Amino acid sequence: MDFLTFILLMEELDPGLFLPVMIASGVGRHMYNLGNEGQRKNFLPSLLSVDKIGCTSITEPNVGSQHSAIQTRAVLDGDHYVINGSKMWISNAAFADITMVLARTDAQSGRNVLNFFIVDKKDSPFDAKATPILGDDPRIPHVGELVFEDCRIPKENLIGLPGKGLMETMAIFQKARCLLAMNSVVYAQRALDAAIRYAKERTQFGKRIGHSSSFKP
Ligand SMILES: Cc1cc2nc3c(=O)[nH]c(=O)nc-3n(C[C@H](O)[C@H](O)[C@H](O)COP(=O)(O)OP(=O)(O)OC[C@H]3O[C@@H](n4cnc5c(N)ncnc54)[C@H](O)[C@@H]3O)c2cc1C
Repeated sequence: MDFLTFILLMEELDPGLFLPVMIASGVGRHMYNLGNEGQRKNFLPSLLSVDKIGCTSITEPNVGSQHSAIQTRAVLDGDHYVINGSKMWISNAAFADITMVLARTDAQSGRNVLNFFIVDKKDSPFDAKATPILGDDPRIPHVGELVFEDCRIPKENLIGLPGKGLMETMAIFQKARCLLAMNSVVYAQRALDAAIRYAKERTQFGKRIGHSSSFKP
């Protein structure tokens, strides 16, 4: 579906479901948008059937808003890329079987050549652990850390347009920001609805507070 339809669908969901659905569907959506036919066939079915859990790995311990400063590196070695680096605050990190990782492919620093790579933990193991900062509320995303140490992936797992990883990241965050803004609108609407409902129920000085002369909901 197009993004506007997706936003409208999310708006109708229970707010408690919104974040899990947004996060679970995110990596599948990015893979669909950026992937070639082979990558879609290879990775999407297991993500969509939830046999496998995915995550999108952009943020690093030293890199948040400034995506151009990504430090994780991917170096071509024959038919493989070798990835080294670590990622932080990644939703689903500890459960993820498959991740889309943003890494720098320029050999010399100073140039910004970034690309996304698909890493399947089964074939290319990496370390992952949860960062227990947000309690056990299932509505709140579980974030964590990923560490790639000489993680070898087939070179066909480069996803998206070569060298366009920074632009692709901006597009991913632009959509995420729209979704989060929409989520805030949904919560604001719920709060307004609850306040109006309460103002119609609550009685003070012999009348409903919502029916006083100074308050007309
Ligand atoms: C619950 C949760 C889930 C997350 N899930 C993922 C995920 O799945 N994958 C992933 O890759 N990342 C994820 N993140 C990380 C998230 O994308 C980053 O937190 C975000 O990019 C901001 O980076 P930062 O936290 O390092 O903030 P910083 O970059 O340190 O920014 C801190 C503050 O400074 C402001 N700021 C930054 N630069 C400027 C500037 N030039 N001018 C003015 N103000 C500025 C920012 O707006 C912000 O308010 C998640 C974070 C959270 C909290």
